Amino acid sequence: MEKLKVGVLGATGAVGQNYINLLRDHPWLDISFLAASKNSDTFQEAVSERGWFMPQDIPEHARNISVWEASDVDKAKSLCDFVFSALESDPAKNLELLYAQEGIPVVSNASAYRWDSFVPMLIPEINADHIAVIPRQKEVKGYEGFIVVKPNCSLQSYMTPLYALMQKDFTIDKVVVTTLQASSGAGWPGVPSLDLIDNIVPYIPKEEDKSEQEPYKILGTVGENGIENYSGLSISATCTRVPVRDGHTASVNISFSNKKPSRQEIIEIWNSFRGLPQEYKLPSAPEQPIIYREEDNRPQPILDRDADKGMAVTVGKLRECPVFDYKFVALSHNTIRGAAGGGILNAELLVKDGYLQNRLK
Ligand code: NAP
Repeated sequence: MEKLKVGVLGATGAVGQNYINLLRDHPWLDISFLAASKNSDTFQEAVSERGWFMPQDIPEHARNISVWEASDVDKAKSLCDFVFSALESDPAKNLELLYAQEGIPVVSNASAYRWDSFVPMLIPEINADHIAVIPRQKEVKGYEGFIVVKPNCSLQSYMTPLYALMQKDFTIDKVVVTTLQASSGAGWPGVPSLDLIDNIVPYIPKEEDKSEQEPYKILGTVGENGIENYSGLSISATCTRVPVRDGHTASVNISFSNKKPSRQEIIEIWNSFRGLPQEYKLPSAPEQPIIYREEDNRPQPILDRDADKGMAVTVGKLRECPVFDYKFVALSHNTIRGAAGGGILNAELLVKDGYLQNRLK
């Protein structure tokens, strides 16, 4: 297959740099367009102020690519087949719309269009079928391209474990979750060090609303008016920022309304769970999307965030809960699975199902 040419909007930021790092040897995708808030002659020059945060060097291929102002959609049109958007939410509102209108598909990490019922909010192991709404999105909005989004990084660690149980006909009706979120989740330069070192900050703007509302759309179904939210579940979330560089942890309590599985049954369901990305063998798909660790002291960010290229969710400490039915701890890499890696997996699904093609030919 001829590789598709891709752009990254917000290429200089925490998530944008992860895209450039993860796409270095991608079998289906080649970076051909980079954009940020202003023009720079080369990507190397564009990141000279912020710095390059990845442990590996800037990929040779990306080092000398020019960086364009993200509003230069004509340049993007001439250079790439589709774009990943790692823009902040405010600029994303106008820019992602502009790209979609101009015929350039947008695979986004920003929250700007997450609540549009015609925009799929994908975790491909859970709701790959939501991409079926794309033709309706184009029809209703009059876009030549389209927008697909990723949900918030706070919920990546526990949504797949919950879904795996629900798929086996165990009805989860209540979830209480407390997240311990890494500093890189705040982008660059992130939370000031004097706020975070030796501390926990019990407030992340808008994060609790996102953590409580987005699961309903992710678990929803495609209907005539777009994606209809799932209503069989109540979620209460507390989100905190902790002095960890990468890796969001969640402490989760759940209750079942129909039947209660045994602990062993739950662990077997999690370890054997596979979704469409695994069936399709997508290049970024983890082989085992949920890894259960039996050790009492796992998961931990430094030991587990990189599991299976940073794309697997690690779960542990599943035990009976005296108030709910069970409680467990879950962890995922926020800038890989929760951001750039998740965006790339979304794009791979769209390529495989024929929604992304070479439009420059
Ligand atoms: P970041 O480090 O602050 O990077 C933001 C990027 O957007 C930079 O490349 C910046 O370019 C560009 N930008 C800002 N204003 C712009 C404008 N007016 N026009 C064009 N480009 C503009 O943020 P981040 O952490 O990478 O997050 C990016 C997006 O991903 C956000 O929407 C965030 O909510 C979402 N997200 C982040 C994470 C995470 O773990 N960090 C996880 C999931 C989703 P300049 O360098 O030129 O300013």
